[in-house]
Amino acid sequence: MKSLKTGFNPLEREEMNYHEYLDYWVCKCGNFEKMKGFNASTKYGNLISPIGAEYCRCEQCGRVIEIHSHTIIGINLTPDRGRF
Ligand SMILES: [Zn+2]
Repeated sequence: MKSLKTGFNPLEREEMNYHEYLDYWVCKCGNFEKMKGFNASTKYGNLISPIGAEYCRCEQCGRVIEIHSHTIIGINLTPDRGRF
């Protein structure tokens, strides 16, 4: 079984940019909800059920985002996708 932290690298906390015209939060890589979007994840970027998830992972660059604060906290390029 893989470690919970496999593939995860913490980054300095940084708030996402809010795009007022699009009315979306935009990842540092330019991805946003209507592009590749984000998937619910653990704080280490491994994908989980979206119900009650507190973190999500950018599908374009792998950054892990704390949802309630829209803050980028790390990156995981090789997440455990489980069944999601
Ligand atoms: Zn991204």
